[in-house]
Amino acid sequence: METKQFQAESKRLLEMMINSIYSQREVFLRELISNSSDAIDKIYYKALTDDSLTFDKDSYYIKIVPDKENRTLTIKDTGIGMTKEELENNLGVIAKSGSLAFKKENEIKDGHDIIGQFGVGFYAAFMVADVVTVISKALGSDQAYKWESHGADGYTIAPFEKDAVGTEIILKIKENTEDESYDEYLEEYRLKSIIKKYSDFIRYPIKMDVKVSKPKSDAENEYEENIEEQTINSMVPIWRKNKSELTDEDYEKFYQEKHYGFDKPVKHIHISVDGTIRYNAILYIPENIPFDYYSKEYEKGLELYSNGVLIMNKCGDLLPDYFSFVKGMVDSEDLSLNISREMLQHDRQLKLIAKNISKKIKNELQQLMKNEREKYEQFYKSFGRQLKYGVYSDFGTHKETLQDLLMFYSSTEKKLASLDEYVSRMKDDQKYIYYAAGESNERIEKLPQTELVADKGYEILYFTEDIDEFAIKMLMSYKEKEFKSVSSGDLGIENEEEKITESEEKEHKDLFSSMKEILSGKVNDVRISKRLKSHPVCLTADGEVTIEMEKILSTMPDNQNVKANKVLEINSSHEVFQALKNAMENDKEKLSLYTNLLYNQALLIEGLPISDPVEFTNDICKVMV
Ligand code: ADP
Repeated sequence: METKQFQAESKRLLEMMINSIYSQREVFLRELISNSSDAIDKIYYKALTDDSLTFDKDSYYIKIVPDKENRTLTIKDTGIGMTKEELENNLGVIAKSGSLAFKKENEIKDGHDIIGQFGVGFYAAFMVADVVTVISKALGSDQAYKWESHGADGYTIAPFEKDAVGTEIILKIKENTEDESYDEYLEEYRLKSIIKKYSDFIRYPIKMDVKVSKPKSDAENEYEENIEEQTINSMVPIWRKNKSELTDEDYEKFYQEKHYGFDKPVKHIHISVDGTIRYNAILYIPENIPFDYYSKEYEKGLELYSNGVLIMNKCGDLLPDYFSFVKGMVDSEDLSLNISREMLQHDRQLKLIAKNISKKIKNELQQLMKNEREKYEQFYKSFGRQLKYGVYSDFGTHKETLQDLLMFYSSTEKKLASLDEYVSRMKDDQKYIYYAAGESNERIEKLPQTELVADKGYEILYFTEDIDEFAIKMLMSYKEKEFKSVSSGDLGIENEEEKITESEEKEHKDLFSSMKEILSGKVNDVRISKRLKSHPVCLTADGEVTIEMEKILSTMPDNQNVKANKVLEINSSHEVFQALKNAMENDKEKLSLYTNLLYNQALLIEGLPISDPVEFTNDICKVMV
């Protein structure tokens, strides 16, 4: 028979996999059982909602059959089965949509993440088996098929006899090597303990024939051995268990088993509500960003169960966009099994549950921020951006909910600070919450614009993400304190110097209008600076659009060429100012040279491009000779 090749990508991924991507080989069984359970979920749901199918609860199970003589381990299920096409598509292609391209880009150090994200669960079988045979009959088809593979070489597929709908996976267990023993995967006690460890809460019975010895009824001290079919798992879903019975490890196992992620969640939230609405939920705040999180492909949502039966894999209506990183499941007795996607959107119960869940997530995050700062920071590094988008989106509708979860780097604390912490530290005479925007903390630290505010001893929040200023503009104020950019015209710091500058302004009116003319089209105004201490110049902006915002908008398509109203500010106590005045009086050409130089310097400090770098360097040479 012709052997079909795995797709090239699959082959490489498979090799990667076999070379022990999982640190523990035993998880192959968890993967296969969980596939079986999913397959039973599908047929179970169909049977409950489709009258043409007969429904017999006892006929849904998974059976594990070790066979030492033939060195095989078989995993049977009465699930929905696979058609020939499904066998080819599901088992012949591992790497879906560009997973390897992604891997190359990101130089995955720890295989865990990548494997988890693409769900190559089935291939874990090759960690313990030389040959994997899958015999499957799909619901509604008359013909069963046998799929077989010796690993990376490829697979064969052919019609096969099988009466009942479902799937049988037969693993030809590897021979022991010097370093590895595979015999254990044929041992009853070992299999039992693996099942207990990883798959205890699977909702369907996982059965195994187990040898039991019983005292012979007729003779004392004599035993007879019987084979008895036992159900190994307790079948109580974890979300129905009492919180006090469960350990952190149990929640982590559930997270992994469900493929919510391969990271260690920073927090789990177990909710049991028994009131006007009744539901159980287990939610997780992941630690790491899924690779596709900030892309269109990412689909938010929680698994939705109706009284223990899975009715939807990703119910998006349960999570607001700003919490789209949350993983987990909800089970409610009050939801109808037959509910359609469209109806679900309008379901009152579901809306209530969603509202409840959001509130809970917010509270838990706030607690985390307060009590486990390190963990919160870890989370914030991954998803802080999403929270800020949440503040900004929908015209600020959710800002009240989210403002307490925000953090920014603080100039005085040298670490992330919440807005509440900032406000509680504000000085008596301080009117505003000050912020400075720039590329990185290091760059902002050096911005001339921060000088006066920092000199006053006021704390400054550093905005380094493109969304930051937009989110803050939406927020406008926090606890009645307005936000103020250190680059804005009126800093709200009134002092004697400011008055002097006003009279100075008049005195140097001619100089500034000449400079403004020289820079026409580039800046809207040239002024004496109220904020500079040691630097000669800086650029600021009048009005709503700041220079940082202009930078960000310019990178977006359809930006409508939004520009900041730029102002060149000059430090009148700097020596450079005297040079400008002299040039104004004696040498107009020099004034033009100096003005352009200072303007370009200000651009450089802001991280803005200089329109003609060659001219700039020539100008510097002119000054030197
Ligand atoms: P994942 O389960 O993450 O999708 P797998 O490689 O484990 O990835 O399985 C691929 C697909 O093969 C599954 O999504 C499912 O459609 C199908 N499949 C695997 N095992 C079974 C089974 N026992 N019964 C029916 N379908 C299965």
